[in-house]
Amino acid sequence: SGIVVSFGEMLIDFVPTVAGVSLAEAPGFLKAPGGAPANVAIAVARLGGHCAFVGKLGDDEFGRMLVAILRENGVDYSGVTLDSGARTALAFVTLRADGEREFMFYRNPSADMLLTEAELNLDLIRKAAVFHYGSISLITEPCRSAHLKAMEVAKQAGALLSYDPNLRLPLWPSAREAREKILSIWDQADIIKVSDVELEFLTGEDSVEDEVAMKLWRPNLTLLLVTLGEKGCKYYTKDFHGSVESFFVKQVDTTGAGDAFVGALLGKIIEDRSALQDEEKLKELLRFANACGAITTTKKGAIPALPNLAEVLQLIE
Ligand code: ATP
Repeated sequence: SGIVVSFGEMLIDFVPTVAGVSLAEAPGFLKAPGGAPANVAIAVARLGGHCAFVGKLGDDEFGRMLVAILRENGVDYSGVTLDSGARTALAFVTLRADGEREFMFYRNPSADMLLTEAELNLDLIRKAAVFHYGSISLITEPCRSAHLKAMEVAKQAGALLSYDPNLRLPLWPSAREAREKILSIWDQADIIKVSDVELEFLTGEDSVEDEVAMKLWRPNLTLLLVTLGEKGCKYYTKDFHGSVESFFVKQVDTTGAGDAFVGALLGKIIEDRSALQDEEKLKELLRFANACGAITTTKKGAIPALPNLAEVLQLIE
């Protein structure tokens, strides 16, 4: 057993009070706490696992609100730094009637982007059995260097590195730079999860066939996962590969499904690493992770929709 340490951004999504409108048409917005690495931390904790979040927030009402959310969910926040000179990041996000997701970010720069190496809680990072991160913290300095340092410290201390790139194209200067920088740390991870969309973006192919996924395989990798929404997920290890179907649910809002899936996976791996070598155990674990993702789509928002253990066991049975 051990702890999952999740590194990166936590922010507030503002989502329209009514469905299917553009940002300009929205009559009003609701606050929805988010940021993929923070969602993962809360997903682990809600299922009963030990988890810490490492990142930076503004020393403002929103930053303190987000710390309270971590605390209430049982996530260790001793790795969170507050910046009195910068704001907590905001993102306005909507799913328009035409199915397009529209984002508008307020990061100029926001506190999460200003985390420095010197501010890292290295003692906490060294306790990680699994160290998890995304790619948004790679976009600009000084956060980029802090991210790379934290990975190095965690790896040296024996942690498995877990990477979910969580592509947010509008945050990058160009698609080319996004692809390059996201792939620049690919070789170092032990576990990588991509969505079908990210697989296509990173490989430049328009299919999610095994041959395409294998382009993202690296010798150091232990487990590569491709999530396929309602179709579940595919898994690849050096010895075996296959797919695991998800559960039928009434989908309301997919936000956070990928993060719930990752949280469930990492929470199980800190309990029993042998699932990485044993295909039957891995399939059972991925059924559990799919169930967590599926439940998350049945409610609005990410964090409010993350399931507890009882809900997951009920869906599986
Ligand atoms: P996000 O919306 O958080 O960015 P993602 O694109 O990273 O998500 P998805 O592939 O949408 O990830 O979903 C992650 C997992 O959640 C899937 O692998 C699947 O197990 C489950 N899931 C997602 N949508 C559904 C659905 N409609 N029905 C059943 N399971 C689902």
